[in-house]
Amino acid sequence: MPTESTFLLAGLFFVAAALGYFFAVFGDDDDEDDELAKGQLNADYIKGLNFLLNEQPDQALEVFMRMVEVDDETLETHFALGSLFRRRGELNRAIQIHQNIIARPNLSVVHREQAMVSLAEDYLSAGLFDRAEKLYKDLRESTEHGVRALHKLIRIHEATQDWAPAIEVYQALKKIDPDAGEDGRVAHYYCELAEQAALDRDFPRARELLKKAGSGRHGADRVRLVLAGLAQETGDHKEAIKIYRQVMKHQPRLIAEVVPRLAESCRAIDDQDALTRSLKELRKGGSDSGKAIALATVYDPQIVNETALECLRDYVLADDVLGNLVDTASLEEGDLSDQRAALEKVREGLGAFVSQSHRYRCTECGYVTSQLIWQCPTCRSWETVSPAVQLSVETPVA
Ligand SMILES: [Zn+2]
Repeated sequence: MPTESTFLLAGLFFVAAALGYFFAVFGDDDDEDDELAKGQLNADYIKGLNFLLNEQPDQALEVFMRMVEVDDETLETHFALGSLFRRRGELNRAIQIHQNIIARPNLSVVHREQAMVSLAEDYLSAGLFDRAEKLYKDLRESTEHGVRALHKLIRIHEATQDWAPAIEVYQALKKIDPDAGEDGRVAHYYCELAEQAALDRDFPRARELLKKAGSGRHGADRVRLVLAGLAQETGDHKEAIKIYRQVMKHQPRLIAEVVPRLAESCRAIDDQDALTRSLKELRKGGSDSGKAIALATVYDPQIVNETALECLRDYVLADDVLGNLVDTASLEEGDLSDQRAALEKVREGLGAFVSQSHRYRCTECGYVTSQLIWQCPTCRSWETVSPAVQLSVETPVA
């Protein structure tokens, strides 16, 4: 973050610039009126800087604004000043400066576009997405700023969840720069639209949109999960179970997310054997898979499957902390019904203190959330939020 000293250093930079300007002005210009005007300009510069250094930015701004009306040569200083205000978080002042530049008559195309880019950045920083969007749309055809404008438009459409325009802009960007956006985000845009269509119970439209999302490397798991959700909604639980099994095989990181959904479909058709078969197959994949099943079993008390509970027992016994907290002997000794009753107690206890809000974590930035999301709201990465691999304890509210 820029500090006060950054600001003052920048102020000193202006002093140096002003002094350089002073010598330039008085060095080789013979025109008396011009010299007078520039002398006045220089006096304004010094005045503005004094305000700046005395922490009186409003007064400094007023002086610098007046200067724009005087001479083209001060433009770059104003751009620097505007950017400085933005970095300090003084967005109203930054906006005022950049709007003032744009309002100038006879401004060159280069400077106008530069000012539009800066103003759009101010709006973006202020969360004024509609105003930023308008400016970036106007800059789409710019040779210099077109690509940047498209990237920014994508960011805005993602933030405002306007998925159809996001697809249009993404496709326009790909035409200019085929390597841009090779992160599969367009598949997610189609999935977003498909999920919306599913909510509206327009299932044919949802399927059509999922086809457009394609079956590329990115977004494929989400496409499958939405398809499985559609199958569940339409009562085709066998199809849903088939797809859930595919997802877990293809993407073990999603096991803790998918197991409760799989269990739901198995319950719907009263087929516990199908769940047992799936869970046993997953356990063969290693201890991490068993652990993920155990976590799902803690989070979803409706899972009463024996294999799932075995995974939970193994998880508790293998965990140093839980092993000390729980009466582990009761999980291994006595008859099966006693063991089962003890395990149910453990599950109940864990369920009461685990944090639902920490169920998922972004591997890029550490953001935590209570549900699976496909784009991290903090770092804006796609497909980086996964089910947590450990139980987190709920922090008591004071
Ligand atoms: Zn993140």
